[in-house]
Amino acid sequence: MHMGFMVVSAALLVSGCTSVSMNGGLELDRPGRDGQVAEAADRTLRGDDALPVDATALHDRVLTMDTHIDIDAGYASYRLDPGVFNRAQVDLPSMRAGGLDAGFFIVYVGQGLISPMGYEEAAAIADDKYEAILRMIRAYPDQIALAVTADQVEAIHNSGKLVALIGMENSWPLGTDISNVELWADRGVRYVSITHFGNNQFGGSSNPNLAQGDPAEDPGLTDLGRELVSALNDEGVMVDISHVGKTTMMEAVALSRAPVIASHSGARSVYDHPRNLDDEQLRAIRDNGGVAQMVAFRRYIADIDPALAQAEQALAAEFGLDSQEGRAAATQATRDRFQDELRALRASMNDVTIEHLADHIDHAVAVAGIDHVGIASDFDGGGGVGGWDDATETPAVTAELIERGYSEKDIAKIWGGNLLRVMRAVEAAAAD
Ligand SMILES: [Zn+2]
Repeated sequence: MHMGFMVVSAALLVSGCTSVSMNGGLELDRPGRDGQVAEAADRTLRGDDALPVDATALHDRVLTMDTHIDIDAGYASYRLDPGVFNRAQVDLPSMRAGGLDAGFFIVYVGQGLISPMGYEEAAAIADDKYEAILRMIRAYPDQIALAVTADQVEAIHNSGKLVALIGMENSWPLGTDISNVELWADRGVRYVSITHFGNNQFGGSSNPNLAQGDPAEDPGLTDLGRELVSALNDEGVMVDISHVGKTTMMEAVALSRAPVIASHSGARSVYDHPRNLDDEQLRAIRDNGGVAQMVAFRRYIADIDPALAQAEQALAAEFGLDSQEGRAAATQATRDRFQDELRALRASMNDVTIEHLADHIDHAVAVAGIDHVGIASDFDGGGGVGGWDDATETPAVTAELIERGYSEKDIAKIWGGNLLRVMRAVEAAAAD
């Protein structure tokens, strides 16, 4: 999740599904799996050994893990049922249709006041998000199960179920009582991002909130931030440095007794955005044994074509979705029609696509090595690119990686193997 996104993107959050594949404009009716199988099978692609490889078969063989999936308030309630294709970019049928095996569902809280009242408010929002994830798992125990260890991820996957993991984005809800780390670890949280947009009680953000008085320069980890990193290590929770300022990030990496992750970030050498990791940061993650999950987020990974941005705004206005009031008043049918037209618009213009995502993956692999790179969608938090705009389209990512010459072994690492290795190292460090 991010803040300050464009009006149009905000409207998108409420209607993620589509009947149009961005891959060659193939028309698919949901569920999209059959169409995608056919589409992928049409593409005879070559791997390292120059033999034809069926992208979908390969995709189905590897364990695919998306490390950042946001959820709406009201998720897994009467307002949004994850058991059916719904307006979100990720639901259980979409995960199955797209062969997306595992996902970190996110307890996200946008940064607010750093005060006892603020902490209380943040904890309440975090509790709500956590309950929503539990509701999904409890409602569909035959389809999805919670994993809190790497072994459990594999065991659940092997049993044929989808795998849910929990990440916390922004440690603000932890307040100043470090024992809250243990509470959330017991609840199953397996990564915690130190900050979100805006500095907090633990450290500096990649995007400080200057209007709220944050200094332009990242002040680094606070004393409490150092305690946080240590407590996360002790509890076997991965330290997540996405959204974190570089000074704070480098200090956290140096301090951590276990590998760290960037749960959803891009490569700054490919696209210069403060949310992205520069090469020094990528190398620090490599040297620490960690993993940087490249994010499929249009605005973070490439320039948005101004003509497309303008056309998106105009479309939103046409549907009355260009204001807060308009979005609140819109019916689901209106949102769905808008979403369909937006997809068509993006497909007809110069969109940020899966190729841009792959450029970030290529660069991160070149700098940090194949063992230190992964993938995150940031779906339902503003994420998605042309070609991978909801969970049903996940095989297209694999197809793109094959096209770029990655072997099955490489792809298995990128899609989850690296993350599981880090999870195991973090578990082992906690046990020491
Ligand atoms: Zn985020």
